[in-house]
This record gives sequence, structure tokens and C-alpha cells, in this order.
Amino acid sequence: MTDSATARSAPHRARCPRCGRGFDCGARTQPFDCWCASMPALPGGGTQPAAGARCRCPECLADEIAQRMTGAAG
Ligand SMILES: [Zn+2]
Repeated sequence: MTDSATARSAPHRARCPRCGRGFDCGARTQPFDCWCASMPALPGGGTQPAAGARCRCPECLADEIAQRMTGAAG
């Protein structure tokens, strides 16, 4: 397993901090090109990760969006 630095603008393999699943993260691509860009924007924020934020896998991000949409009553 070698860490090639040739794919600078391609999504890299990340691990979800929530479920530990591996997924492709394009948060650091230039220009920004990630599957999360097609997800609904989080209320009061964006889907694009802020500096220092950890990206989530598609399932966990969708779950978080659903929870924020329905409110924190639960
Ligand atoms: Zn996850």
C-alpha cells in the first residue's frame, strides 16, 4: 500500500468518525467535487465541511440531515 500523491484533485479515502466506515471524500479537491455537494444543505450551515470538521459517510450525512430537518425533538 503506497500513498501516491499524484491524485491531488481526486477524492481520497476517508473514514467516517461516526460509524467507522471507509468512504471517498472529496472535501479537499480543487475545484470542490464531492458526492456531498449533491446532498441537501444542512439548515444553518452548508454541506461543505468547515476547517477542521470531519466528513461523514453518505449514510451518516443523510441521517444527520434528516435529523436536523425534523428538529432536535428526539
Ligand atoms: Zn458513517
